[in-house]
Amino acid sequence: MPAEVTVFAAREIVTLNRSLPGCTHVAVREGRIIGYGGAEIAAEFGGTVDNRFAGKVIIPGFVEGHGHAADGIVWRTPYVGFYPRTGPDGQKAGGFKSIAEVVAHLKAEAAKLPDPTTPLTAWGFDPIYFEGRRMTASDLDEISQERMIVIGHVSGHIMNVNTKVLEACGFSRDSNLDGLLRDPQGNLTGELLGPAVMNRAARASGGAGLLRKMDAPAYRTYGQIARRVGVTTSTDLSNALTPAIVEALLTATGEADYPIRIVPAMQQREYAVAEGVARIQELRRLSSDKLHFGMVKIVVDGSIQGFTARLRWPGYHNGAPNGLWYVAPGEFEAIAEAYHTAGAHLHIHTNGDEAADMATEMIGRVIARHPRPDHRHTLQHCQMADAAIFRRMATNGMCVNLFANHIYYWGEQHRAITMGPSRALRLDACATALEQGVPLAIHSDTPVTPVDPLFTMWCAVNRLTPAGRVLGEGERITPLQALHAVTLGAAYTLKLDHLIGSIDVGKFADFAVLDDNPLRVAPEAIKDIPVHATVLGGRVFARQ
Ligand SMILES: [Zn+2]
Repeated sequence: MPAEVTVFAAREIVTLNRSLPGCTHVAVREGRIIGYGGAEIAAEFGGTVDNRFAGKVIIPGFVEGHGHAADGIVWRTPYVGFYPRTGPDGQKAGGFKSIAEVVAHLKAEAAKLPDPTTPLTAWGFDPIYFEGRRMTASDLDEISQERMIVIGHVSGHIMNVNTKVLEACGFSRDSNLDGLLRDPQGNLTGELLGPAVMNRAARASGGAGLLRKMDAPAYRTYGQIARRVGVTTSTDLSNALTPAIVEALLTATGEADYPIRIVPAMQQREYAVAEGVARIQELRRLSSDKLHFGMVKIVVDGSIQGFTARLRWPGYHNGAPNGLWYVAPGEFEAIAEAYHTAGAHLHIHTNGDEAADMATEMIGRVIARHPRPDHRHTLQHCQMADAAIFRRMATNGMCVNLFANHIYYWGEQHRAITMGPSRALRLDACATALEQGVPLAIHSDTPVTPVDPLFTMWCAVNRLTPAGRVLGEGERITPLQALHAVTLGAAYTLKLDHLIGSIDVGKFADFAVLDDNPLRVAPEAIKDIPVHATVLGGRVFARQ
């Protein structure tokens, strides 16, 4: 007996497929698209019509090209962010406007812990929005001197800890380590910059924020968070991929009702090079329709708003010293070469323009020595790249995934403090990237900012800050370009564009079902379109 055909009828279907960009019906068999067109396709493909989306708009399911499934685990600890956010339980959290408000909230959270020595961890902190001094260990000692306290910044690149943690890690005034912030007298402030020192504090305290180890329930939570905003495929872009984490991934994605496909990237820092090359080869064999291995993440610098990104001349607008190389330029070339020659697909975190410039240069050298067509090595964030960097990226066959949400969340701070009024205009320069021929995706970096591809589209199309300012009018892209960047464009950077990202015969039947068409509403209204449901491999996930 031939497999059943279901024909989904909609008010409109946006296919992103040039042979028929708009239609009203899509036919699905065995989880894949078998046809599209008007009402006649039900007869042509012999299917039953499903009218539940008849008043809705079907588009290709969103692809979050740079997210972290840690979004499904960080909510187990208190959120202390500046912007209020809705947690997986639907409750609003955060919205703290000063260090005093954060400390008061954490005192209340500490009181809920079972005993006076249980470590207290929190996430989402971001002092760039606060006037005046930065948080110190003594602020946190006020909460407790007995328990360890670790506050992860929302960027994932900085932590604040109390004196108990500094002592447990053996960090002192005499420590000769990069990444320990000091006051003018040379005393440690309790702010830890970069993975080397942060990992020690995380180990001492049982993990905090982005450094927590994922389990199957956390992947389930993340699946629900992503599904609700129309995502059908998400990366998990920095993953140690230990046997326990891989087991958790296999368990969650193996469940028939798991609502998204996951594309993890192996965190290079966790492995010696030869070991990492072997691990990625071994993991490829475990790939399935809902779990795709093969990508490697290399983090080159830190965060712009944390002053740990590497900037070219003239450096930080406020005169702060240049940031940190997480991977030194000399080291980067050898690492990239080893993974490139082993056939791995590189996703390279660069925030500052010095980091983007260096990575582009080194990738160019590696490719010159070992040509490999269609490698699609991708710079992630790449927030300060200019036309010349994008031009070389195009020449090297590289892709970019720009952090469009930054324009809203930190645009005003970049303008006033980090990049200054001129360079801030090219923050996440989507139009220049496209003009220079670099394949483009845009992203949220959830939980750094909340996953919500319609919001990410809105940012790239409008470039509005919370002050109502348009930051770099010339870098705005059209709604169609933005939709492409959160579907087919993102799929391309993951080497999955033959399977997902548009509505085309043979591809997975992965859809987002919206109340309205993002290509037809006013550009300012794109972020407000309700997501009604998703479809993954033909299976409907109704919005709850
Ligand atoms: Zn990230």
